[in-house]
Amino acid sequence: MHNSTITLESIMNAFDPRRLSSHIEAFARIGANEFGGVTRLAFSQEDRKGREKFLHLLETELHAEIHTDPLGNIFARRKGKHPDWPAIMTGSHLDSVRNGGKFDGPAGVLSAFEAFRVLDLLRIETEHPLVLAMLTSEEPNTFGISTLGSRGLAGKLQKTQLEALRDDGGKDFRTALASIGGDLERIQEAVLKPGSVKYFLELHIEQMPFLDRERKNIGVVKGVTGICRERISVMGVASHCGTTPMTERRDALCAASEVILALERAARGEEGKAVATIGHLNVFPNSINITPERVDLDAEIRSYYPESVHRILHALGEEVSRIQETRGIHLDRKPLYRTEPTTFSPDVRGAIREAADRLGFSTLELISMAGHDAAHMNAVTEAGMIFIPCKAGLSHCPQEWTDTEDLVRGAQCLLQTLLLLDKKDDEENR
Ligand SMILES: [Zn+2]
Repeated sequence: MHNSTITLESIMNAFDPRRLSSHIEAFARIGANEFGGVTRLAFSQEDRKGREKFLHLLETELHAEIHTDPLGNIFARRKGKHPDWPAIMTGSHLDSVRNGGKFDGPAGVLSAFEAFRVLDLLRIETEHPLVLAMLTSEEPNTFGISTLGSRGLAGKLQKTQLEALRDDGGKDFRTALASIGGDLERIQEAVLKPGSVKYFLELHIEQMPFLDRERKNIGVVKGVTGICRERISVMGVASHCGTTPMTERRDALCAASEVILALERAARGEEGKAVATIGHLNVFPNSINITPERVDLDAEIRSYYPESVHRILHALGEEVSRIQETRGIHLDRKPLYRTEPTTFSPDVRGAIREAADRLGFSTLELISMAGHDAAHMNAVTEAGMIFIPCKAGLSHCPQEWTDTEDLVRGAQCLLQTLLLLDKKDDEENR
């Protein structure tokens, strides 16, 4: 069939809302718990069941070549008119957090699946090969690694580091990977060859409240936040809680409380640009009748704007000095981890916006404050993300919800974006 005879309207009418939502529900049953949540951790029995189901869907319903790589990433490839041209890839993940929701991950994989089904149905042949990707372990697995599949594709994994890993259950990483059809010995083969994938597009629920609140259909994601973590150790003096007068205490936890509030103030000063959290404390000796001797706090700052991170760290530094002086307590700061923000491809962002315009969908430009596979893919391809609304921004919980109409709009926008990117590169090639 000639693509030119197919109208935008006929493509969009081919999407089947009931089918898409029934696929979401079907995957939500794998790992469903009594709280209405889903637990489908990477490498678990539920993960394997989900993969089996997904492979079965691909095999029975799509005209595509199916392939599982040594990291367990699953791909379905439509050749297109030029099988040797760089591919356009789209996808997300099917694993979940503990007691998570139905949409985080599956929304992206299953809307891409629906888009591929529409292409098959209308016998649309793209110029480029089109690849549907289900990426392994986007969420942190029991070995503490997140975005495993996309890190592997981007060449950011080392076999030697992975083979040393054991989880709490004593399982080693090699065995876990083998259980989903992967092979630690061959993970270098998973690395994308330069020029093999031109674009990567991921649809995901927003996990923030902005689209829902502002009643917008499509989030055009400008980039992904950077993350800065540091450990702050507060060194006080342990003493008898009854016999030590209030004026003579060097209570580490009281000082730590000031640090927590100081960080909150600093982050509020960057409202809309940064968030900061102290979500983990170790208190020594953590006893009811001893003044706390030492507290270790792990602080995290997330922002797309390096200058905001800088200002927060500076403000925190001044407060720490003040707390040291006023309380006669020593505080120590140590950087733990830092990732720089990601800015997505202007080509992909432009295509998403144009696709939404053509379809009559409203858009909002957003920064993702959560990490995603697309951020790693951006290092080796031109990547981008479509966000769709989720109720009140709730995610990683059983209450996570996206209306079917929003899912379908997202899937339609995804397909239209893929077709625009397919054409765009074609124009450049000519
Ligand atoms: Zn996700």
